[in-house]
Amino acid sequence: MIKDKDILDEKNKLLHQKSKEVEFPMSEKDLKLIDEMIDHLTKSQIPEEAEKYNLRPGMGLSAVQLGVLKRYFVVVYEYEEGKFDNYILINPKIVSESKEMIYVEEGEGCLSVNRPVPGIVPRHARITMQAYDTEGNLQEYRVREDLAICFQHELDHLNGILFVDKIDPNNPFKGKDKYRAI
Ligand code: ZN
Repeated sequence: MIKDKDILDEKNKLLHQKSKEVEFPMSEKDLKLIDEMIDHLTKSQIPEEAEKYNLRPGMGLSAVQLGVLKRYFVVVYEYEEGKFDNYILINPKIVSESKEMIYVEEGEGCLSVNRPVPGIVPRHARITMQAYDTEGNLQEYRVREDLAICFQHELDHLNGILFVDKIDPNNPFKGKDKYRAI
């Protein structure tokens, strides 16, 4: 089981490197890691489980955050209380994006960033992403709002970029009046 201490901290160099494309068929090791990542994120969003295992709530995780430099991430989205949709995206690419930009009003969070970071990150309000599933079939995802932000945040991880890298310390709330808060 993945614990918070297994997730790399922003100081780790791996988090600043670009991950490599995944080849199919996927290894048993990667498939097992994906199951564990989903299990971790699900438990982290169920208050009793989170308390039991002392987990910080999280919605997305990229392989690199567990030290694996491969292009995949998982997202566990609570669409209704106690009900979750699991997304597994391998070798993801953005194929279209809205002009409209949004940002998380209270600031983005990341399981690899263990300090408060004031500032906002403007992201596309809607995106379409193509990615492979674990079997190697190409899938398409149209996502919006918080889910779109989460997908863009995770894709950045695969390119070695953290949300904190996108905040200008001299102007951390740049774009606040121009874009929509969610
Ligand atoms: Zn993150």
